[in-house]
Amino acid sequence: MKYIGAHVSIAGGLDISVLRAHQLGATAFSFFTKNQRKWESIPLSKKVISDFKEACNKFNYQAHQILPHGSYLINLGHPDNDLLKKSRYAFLDEIIRCHDLGLILFNFHPGSFLYKITEESCLKRIADSINWSLNKTKDVTLVIENTAGQGSNIGYCFEHLAAIINDIEDKTRIGVCLDTCHLFSAGYDLRTKNTYDSTFKNFDKIVGLNYLRGIHINDSKNCLNSHIDRHHSLGQGEIGYEAFAWMMKDHRFDNIPIILETINSNIWSEEISWLKSQQ
Ligand SMILES: [Zn+2]
Ligand SMILES: [Zn+2]
Repeated sequence: MKYIGAHVSIAGGLDISVLRAHQLGATAFSFFTKNQRKWESIPLSKKVISDFKEACNKFNYQAHQILPHGSYLINLGHPDNDLLKKSRYAFLDEIIRCHDLGLILFNFHPGSFLYKITEESCLKRIADSINWSLNKTKDVTLVIENTAGQGSNIGYCFEHLAAIINDIEDKTRIGVCLDTCHLFSAGYDLRTKNTYDSTFKNFDKIVGLNYLRGIHINDSKNCLNSHIDRHHSLGQGEIGYEAFAWMMKDHRFDNIPIILETINSNIWSEEISWLKSQQ
């Protein structure tokens, strides 16, 4: 079973985001639990929570089909201790919001070393931040997203993801979300059957497919190994249609949310139908 959807807007309320997913014909969706560019968040009221849960029930979305995305401001590997603390508390707040909404997955970007510390010590800080958060929460699995490696963002190679996971105390609550645009920009080719196979074989060897909890299915505006994070509509970028068609037939991607973050939301319903038709 493939769960296919898109990252929908929360304008108008969290329950409206569920309606948006339904209107797209989606069987999965993602959203921001709060304004992703602001530190402050208004606590979720009982009404917001119950409206969200009711909408999920009505339109048949279960927790394992929903992959909320964390704020872009959070840097779990921040070199500055005060700012690291600020990020950790914002991260904790988001996990609690997910838990309150009855969700079990939370997707986030690992962090950036900001050219002030080594990648290794940044990775260590990220793992410490995750352990700190896991100790203070329950039920929600924290899903690390691979990055394009733009600027000082880390998490662009499988070794980074493996290093973080290796330092996590409770490995039952850690997972990975692979973004295909980020994979490609970071140098993992998907354009031929050979490169597609070797990319996911490497992921399995270095990280482990057992940690895979979600996919962001995006084409890339920029070329292989560009380290530039620019998404494109499926088939219109440098990756091309074939890789996405292979993914739809690939049972390794069953039963996890597969989310479009492509640039033209007007064609999401067509992209979802096309993906479904490739199974
Ligand atoms: Zn992301
Ligand atoms: Zn993504």
